[in-house]
Formats: sequence, structure tokens, C-alpha cells
Amino acid sequence: MEIFHISAECYPVAKVGGLADVVGALPKYQNNAGHQVRVVMPCYNTKFKNENSFECVHWGHVKLGDFNFAFNVLKEVTDKLGFELYLIEIPDLFDRKDVYGYEDDIERFLTFQIATLDWINGRNELPDVINCHDHHTGLIPFMMTYCYKYYKFKNTPSMITIHNGLYQGQFGFDKLYYLPEFDLAHVRVLDWNNCINSLAVAIKCAWAVTTVSPNYLNEINISAKGLESLFNMVRYKSRGILNGIDVEVWDPAHDKMLEKNYSTADYKAGKQANKVKLCTLFNLDPTKPLFSFIGRLLEEKGGDLLPGSSAQALQENYQQINILILGSGDTEIENQLNSLRQNFEGNYNTFIGYNEELAHLIYAASDFILMPSRVEPCGLNQMYALRYGTIPIVRRTGGLKDTVIDIGDNGNGICHNQSTISDVCYSIQRAVQLYEDKEQLDSVRLKGMNTDHSWERVCQEYIETYQLIINNKNEN
Ligand code: ADP
Repeated sequence: MEIFHISAECYPVAKVGGLADVVGALPKYQNNAGHQVRVVMPCYNTKFKNENSFECVHWGHVKLGDFNFAFNVLKEVTDKLGFELYLIEIPDLFDRKDVYGYEDDIERFLTFQIATLDWINGRNELPDVINCHDHHTGLIPFMMTYCYKYYKFKNTPSMITIHNGLYQGQFGFDKLYYLPEFDLAHVRVLDWNNCINSLAVAIKCAWAVTTVSPNYLNEINISAKGLESLFNMVRYKSRGILNGIDVEVWDPAHDKMLEKNYSTADYKAGKQANKVKLCTLFNLDPTKPLFSFIGRLLEEKGGDLLPGSSAQALQENYQQINILILGSGDTEIENQLNSLRQNFEGNYNTFIGYNEELAHLIYAASDFILMPSRVEPCGLNQMYALRYGTIPIVRRTGGLKDTVIDIGDNGNGICHNQSTISDVCYSIQRAVQLYEDKEQLDSVRLKGMNTDHSWERVCQEYIETYQLIINNKNEN
């Protein structure tokens, strides 16, 4: 099967969060399973782009309303990621350092989507399926169905994978003229609450909708920032597929970013060596249990609960625990977290920013990973933590509910229900007790390390879903 993945992120080319990890891994495993897989993404000015070789396989022009943009399609020459990687180079729009966060994001990603379809449209053969990821690629299923110049795609199945339904890519109908010409009789397909909502459009037009965990699919039928009724309507073509993890990138036995590699055979010594290294870097005490957080410091991640729960837990366990925070996001949360440093010197620290290498070291060195998320479509941190013998402390939501079972139920982590400081602190107290019970601690750690979250198993579920929509096409 020939599969195209279209995405704004892909690790290690450009990463902001879990979307990149998924698009950097799933295609590799699909390729290994015998499919022809290609990933298409914008060409940002990133380290990966500057340090690798590309050949130009296509060039063209796109119109976005009155604007004209030249674009090149660059292919990474060695397929070093385990699949064919194509970057859409549009210098005026993407030759920038960051992936998102610009005023013209709507124009940027719309131009990317049109350039991508123009290129695929011009190839001799159409793919068997196009898998779009999140709202940045959400107008592709619409354009494939309704735009005159893409009539060839009418029978090409498309799928939208939702990594995070909170971000929907909305814009006003004043920008309708950006879209390539289509039959205006279908203009209402674009409409959701009087806006063009890229994610809603994808949900309506794609042949299949997947979310990144089964439980998240249940949750967005109840609460999805205004899209609940739409999710209910498309339940018949929706499926929740739990993400896997790239067990080659995330492997404590071979991870080059660690101080010391380890496996289930020698994890105690291995983890301790990493802990000593990390604690030295951050002025923490390696003889005490280490609780860490890695992620975007936003409300959806429970970032606002971190300053209060850190302060309370550190007071309750005075000089008996360490807390380390790695992340960036809301400036107020960042400032509150930083200001705690002076009160708990030696037991608490922060690194405000993004640092891939440090994240790997933290997964290996920590005893517990905090995930007090309000919303967590799948969550990868808990799966990385488990593989590195680190116990997740999570709120029961989204994919966290699918992957973390409380130790009270003979599980692999510690769970709570409410997004409150007291629930987080109660879980930290339970973790402190677990840390003292070395026998149970080891058994929970080993359980986590032995869990199979690899893509090999999961990737088959994607193939089955593609197959289902391809079969539907053949029946119609
Ligand atoms: P998200 O909602 O952010 O996509 P996920 O749990 O799906 O959450 O994925 C988060 C990914 O981003 C993980 O690989 C995590 O290690 C990484 N990550 C998040 N914040 C940082 C950071 N500040 N530095 C390094 N890695 C980070």
C-alpha cells in the first residue's frame, strides 16, 4: 500500500510535542511492514534540514488568493529516517525557526496544504491513502473532494488523525478566497459556528477519523471545545488507536543521551548513575526520591497546578523529596515555578525551555513522572517513563486512563481523578510511601519496563483502518 502522511511536525526534523514523535515513528514501522510510506511536511529552518542532504524532486507555484508563492519539494536523499521524507520549501512562509506561533499561521499552513496537493496531483500515480494529522492539514480532505483542480483525488481515501482536538485552526469566511476554486454549493461543509474550522472540516470530509487513544475518543464525544456534536455524528467512521512509542529512539539500553545505559537486568545501578548526574546538574539530592515534570506549561497539562502542588509537597516532605520541572509555556506559570527555587534550594529546580537531551536524562534518572493533565489525548511521557523504569503519577484522563493502572489495582502507576493541588499532593504522598517499600517499588518498576508499547503492534491497527476505507471505495 502507498501511504502519504501529511503533518506539521516529524521527529527529528521538527518537534514541538507528541505529534512529531508519532509521525517520526509510525511511518517507519509501516515501511518495515512492507508498505511504501512517505511523510510530507513544511521545510522549516531547523538543524536537521541544515545538516542533511536533500534533492529537489519538484518545483512549482501556488496561489493563495492574490498571493503567489514559489515552492520546491525536497527529498531527503538517504531515507535515513526509515521512510521517504519530503519537505515543502516555501521560503517566504517557512524559512523560520519555529513551527507555530506566527500571525500568518493560517496562510502558512494553507499554502503548505495546497502546494502538497499540487505536487501529489502531478505525480503519475495517486497514493492508496492520505493520512492527515491535526488541523494544520485538515483542509486537505475537503480540497480532495471539492476543488476542481484536484478532481483526480475524488476516489482517494483520506484519514484524519486527531492528536489534539483543542486546536482547531479556525478562521473567518473573509479568507474563503484563499481556497482553490470549488463548487460553492458545498460551501457549508466549511462552516462550523460561522467560521471555517479546519479540524471540523477534516472530520466531516475524511473517510475515517482516528484519535490517539480509545478513551480520548469517548471523551471528545462529551467535551471537545464545541465539536462534541460533530464527533457524535461521525462515530460510525471513528476509531481510537492508542499511540505506540519508538522503541529504538526510546531505549534505556542504547540511548546515547544517558549518562549510563541500563536494562531490566541492571536498572537499579543504571538509574542511580543517571540520577547522580542529573542531581549534580540541578543541585538536587540523589539519595531522595525524584519527581519530575516534562512538558508544555499550560492549563491543559495541569501546568497551573505545578507551583502549588510542588510547594505543598516540598513542605509536607521537608528535604525528603526532590522536584524538577522541564518545560515552557505560560509565562505566569514559568515565573511562579522559578520563584519557588529560592525557597527550596537543594530540593527543587526548573529548566524553562525545550531540551530533548535533558528530557531523555530525566526519564532515566527520575523515580516518578508527574502528569496532572486536564486533557491528554494519548500522552507519550508516561510510556517513555514506564520504559525507563520511572513510575507515572497521572490524572485519569484520555490516554493516561488507557495506559496507567493504579498500584492499588496491581498496576504500573499512581492515579488520581481531580485536577486539584490536593489530589496531586495525595498521589505524591502515596509515591513517597511506595518509594520506601523497596520490594513493591521494584516490582512496579519492572512491570513498567516490561510493558510492550511498541509501534509494531499498533501500526497494524492503522493499516486495518486504511484497508477498511479502501474496501469501501471498491464497493461503491
Ligand atoms: P503533547 O501534548 O505536548 O504533544 P505528548 O505527551 O504527546 O504531549 O508528547 C510530548 C513530547 O514532547 C514528549 O516526547 C516529551 O518528552 C516532549 N517534550 C515536551 N516538552 C519538552 C521540553 N520542554 N523539552 C524536551 N522535550 C519535551
